Amino acid sequence: MGLFRTKAIVLRSINLSETDKLVTFMTDHYGKVKCVAKGARKIKSQFIGSLEAMSYIHLIYFGKENQNLFRLNHADIIQSFQSIRDDFHKLYMGIYFNELVDTMVPEAHREEDIYHLLLDALETLKDQSNVEPLCRMFEMRLLALSGYTPELNHCMVCKSLRGNGWVGFNFSKRGIVCGNCTNQAPPQIKFTTGTLNYLKKLLTLDIKCCGRLKFPKGLDEEIEKVTHRLILTHVGRELKSYPFIKNMAAVE
Ligand SMILES: [Zn+2]
Repeated sequence: MGLFRTKAIVLRSINLSETDKLVTFMTDHYGKVKCVAKGARKIKSQFIGSLEAMSYIHLIYFGKENQNLFRLNHADIIQSFQSIRDDFHKLYMGIYFNELVDTMVPEAHREEDIYHLLLDALETLKDQSNVEPLCRMFEMRLLALSGYTPELNHCMVCKSLRGNGWVGFNFSKRGIVCGNCTNQAPPQIKFTTGTLNYLKKLLTLDIKCCGRLKFPKGLDEEIEKVTHRLILTHVGRELKSYPFIKNMAAVE
């Protein structure tokens, strides 16, 4: 039996029985980890308040190495991110970030960069009022860190550099396609050079500087069509939390 200590973000927490919870964490040292939290539903539980989705904690758990399910020993809050939970739009976006990580990261793979991306995204979400560029950036960066960076510099088929004018994009090839190669890889969407430049920025800009990024009216939907469909193509289905974000955006 080993005892594991690491920093972690709570991805989700579900009820396992009348007294216990099953909690999924994204950890700094051990990748994605699932733990049973014995007695976490009891009123006097030591875990009360520290196992809410998005909480950033010091985590101690134990079990045999290479097993799938561990026992939670200790959870101490570093940052609760309560202000995200107090704002519905931010709450759903945080849940979407968590769900994306939970869906795209397999268990027991050390994924330090993805852990830091999630932590930076929650820090930024806490302080930002303009959250759409952050959402697009998170989608693009998570794809890139998972090994699925879209090709935005040259044609996926013939490798020629892009000409001027409209840009064609093929989702299954995950990149731009020039006018000569549309037979081999028909573009499923065409967008402007302006959108292309924003997509490149989403891949390179420091996520903490995301507040500087403002999409011009009209381009925001085009950029979402590209980044979110890349996610759908990769994951193969819509994520449960996404319609909530869309509904919140429509209300505002
Ligand atoms: Zn080409």
